[in-house]
Amino acid sequence: MSIVARLASDPPGSGGVPFIADLEIPKDMPNNMDAMRVWAFHWQRRLGAAALRGSDPFLMYWRLVASRRYRIGGLETNIPRPMNPEPPDLFSVFTGHAAIEESLQLESLGERLRPPVQVRRPDSGQRPAEPPPAKTRPMSSLSGPTVRSHPFGEMLHGRVPSVPELSRFIPEDQYAVFFSDINREIELADLMEEWGGNLLREIEASARDFRVREKIARQLCLETGLLTRLFGDRVIGAMAFTGGAPFLKEGTDFTVLFALKKKESFRRHIEDRYAEAAAKRGARRRDLSYGGHAVVSVESADRRVSSFAVVLGDVAAVSNNFGSLKRIVDAASGGLPPLSVATDFLYMRTIFPEGDPAEDVFIYLSDPHIRRLVGPRWKIGEARRMRCASNLMVLSNARFWFRSERRRDPSMEELAAGGYLMKTAPACPDGGAYSFDPGSGEPACSVHNRSGFLTPVGDIPLDEATTEEAALYEAFVANYNRYWSRFFDPIGIRVKLGDNIRVQTCILPLIENSWYDGLVALSGKTGGPLPEASVLPRTIASIRTRVSPEWREKTGVGRHLQERKNVSLDWLGDDVSLNLCDGKTLFTVGAGGMGIFGRGGRSAVEPLALGYLVSALNLPAYLSVSVKDPGRAERAIPDLFQAMSPEYSSPGFSIETYALESHRGKAVHALTVTLFGIKVRLYAAVAGERLVVATRRDVVSDLLDAAADADRKTVAETGNLELSLYRRAFREISPTVTLGYQEQIRQACQKNLALAEILLDTGSVPPGRLAAAAFAFRGYAPYCPSGGSYSLDPATGRAACSVHGAAARPRQPDAVDERSPTMKLVDSLEKVNARLAFTPEGLMATLEVQRGTSTRGSKPKPWWKFWK
Ligand SMILES: [Zn+2]
Ligand SMILES: [Zn+2]
Repeated sequence: MSIVARLASDPPGSGGVPFIADLEIPKDMPNNMDAMRVWAFHWQRRLGAAALRGSDPFLMYWRLVASRRYRIGGLETNIPRPMNPEPPDLFSVFTGHAAIEESLQLESLGERLRPPVQVRRPDSGQRPAEPPPAKTRPMSSLSGPTVRSHPFGEMLHGRVPSVPELSRFIPEDQYAVFFSDINREIELADLMEEWGGNLLREIEASARDFRVREKIARQLCLETGLLTRLFGDRVIGAMAFTGGAPFLKEGTDFTVLFALKKKESFRRHIEDRYAEAAAKRGARRRDLSYGGHAVVSVESADRRVSSFAVVLGDVAAVSNNFGSLKRIVDAASGGLPPLSVATDFLYMRTIFPEGDPAEDVFIYLSDPHIRRLVGPRWKIGEARRMRCASNLMVLSNARFWFRSERRRDPSMEELAAGGYLMKTAPACPDGGAYSFDPGSGEPACSVHNRSGFLTPVGDIPLDEATTEEAALYEAFVANYNRYWSRFFDPIGIRVKLGDNIRVQTCILPLIENSWYDGLVALSGKTGGPLPEASVLPRTIASIRTRVSPEWREKTGVGRHLQERKNVSLDWLGDDVSLNLCDGKTLFTVGAGGMGIFGRGGRSAVEPLALGYLVSALNLPAYLSVSVKDPGRAERAIPDLFQAMSPEYSSPGFSIETYALESHRGKAVHALTVTLFGIKVRLYAAVAGERLVVATRRDVVSDLLDAAADADRKTVAETGNLELSLYRRAFREISPTVTLGYQEQIRQACQKNLALAEILLDTGSVPPGRLAAAAFAFRGYAPYCPSGGSYSLDPATGRAACSVHGAAARPRQPDAVDERSPTMKLVDSLEKVNARLAFTPEGLMATLEVQRGTSTRGSKPKPWWKFWK
């Protein structure tokens, strides 16, 4: 039986759901502990049901605080106990606090966690006269990792590459994203909207939408409207983004630079937008100045509007933070070293030259930027921000609970006094004071502002670290020095947009890295063609590599055969490919199950690639090796097969080889391996200039046909190692693969059910307001990647997705689901290609995505439309 309690004072219908029993409770019930216990117990049962599939920090709050308050903690509940109460490792996370949300909240609630790394204190031993250890340490006593920089000045060898004009305005310790023109920026934004919302998001981890782009555009008053799309390139030339830290979800500084073609139009546009923000969004318009330049600004108290603009010559900068805008002015005037003269940037520009037609977007993470992010000032500042953000989350949980209980907003004092915050109210590590926004009820910190709009680390003074912070930071540095490469490697990424998207990055030589050394040893330092000659139309995946003569020499494969079996291999060429064909599969192995990436398929792309490959254990496969002398290779096949036979016969294991009927005049040989009655056959032939060995005879025939087709043209990129996925060839395997993908989408969607149920059911939020309410409560909107919407099932009262159903009764669309934008995207891919090539500068990695025309014109609905 489910029961929901509703106060007599509630407006009718605010509960929203018909229940088997709808208890009306007198107004004074909150003072009647016994009645409240019954009510809370039913709450707990409902939350427990919600917790079955998904999770939300509110569940833990309930377990730790609310259930204790009503002394029902010991009663049967499905709400899981917080797992693994280790202290949060705030220094090793680079992706924001979502990953350690749980342990952070435990800490905010004052739960005793396992002690962190031993904080070394002076050994007082037998000497009681020792003064007590200091509680803080000056920041100046801490230093970052001792990792060296590459000697970029020397590596330039006097070359002076040209650099983007806007790099003169960017401080060298900030990241930078350069766009050749505003249309490329719009194109990338559209692509991120289309893909970021679906394919590239961490679908497996969550289906959460942080609305980053919309948030920042609105904060800067720079929404791209239709007019900007149509006329933007008449006013604006090149563009760049820059900032001090990548924590855009949580809130950080962000600056946009524009090379102006029409200064006055731009100025007018900014003035109009600022006036609009001042008139409609409660922001304050101000005229400021810095370094002799006029700065215009518009700000609201909650930082939802926060925009500062300056025009420096023909360049405009618009930042969400005055301090960051000042740094731009300083870089332009020489007060701070700009990126344009930084040797690491210049060196990267020799690898990715300015004006290359292969470049629409260039992303650069400089050596000083990476150094700054792992430095003590930034790490400790960020750790404090994360703690404060977690405190804000606890406050919003407490407020939510208080409101469900009392049907009104609490004051901070009521929460603390009433036991809604455990024994002690959470304290801001930077001494900020907490309050609730009178309008929205959003919790805010006087230092760190609010969730999603946190004050940038650089704006908060930090002179002293606590001894614990210092110890934790030093442990982080020790770890970093031990495990990371000996150099800080700046990262440059070149992106080409269009129907085919190409992303390239150069990995500078890694020293003492076994993976890097292994690739050098196998394929040699010089690349060569990686021909797709043996790729059949039904090939779904292919991995091609160069094989260096030194590797063959060193491993002694040829020598062994020459000496022991008298089989010469000197006709072998120097590239090998391993290929998989389309086919029906009986079983699949998920990438997560393989644990190939340690954490098991974090992004949607890994299961896409690996799931396919691994499930292909029962797909037709073939190996293809280039040969220098096809005639000799053909004659060598029987000898080679023979050489594989065991020298002594053993029971249960036998090998036999024989010649089959030839195809197109080419000999086809077979090898049958019998192991305890299980037979595996291999077929071999020389097709054109390649020796091919396949698990199926028809594959060999197809390869011989293809080789005989004189008109058949094949491409060959130059490099050392290449992996291709031919999505267009997925036919028979498609249902299996799509089903697996649909399963992941469903699981991601259903993780949102707990939050949806807490808000829709216990929080009485109408379904239409779910996204907005979740955003206010959690900082993200839950969304279904298949385009479903969340509501309470009238029959059961449980939260359910319109596509995927409820947690207890999950549903899944058929493999071919026209509604799912995610599936449409996956199906629009033709080929995904990854290539590694050694260059004089290092290792060039190129990822290419060829998009088909199937979805052109019927562009999938952008993700954000689903909850608008
Ligand atoms: Zn704070
Ligand atoms: Zn769904």
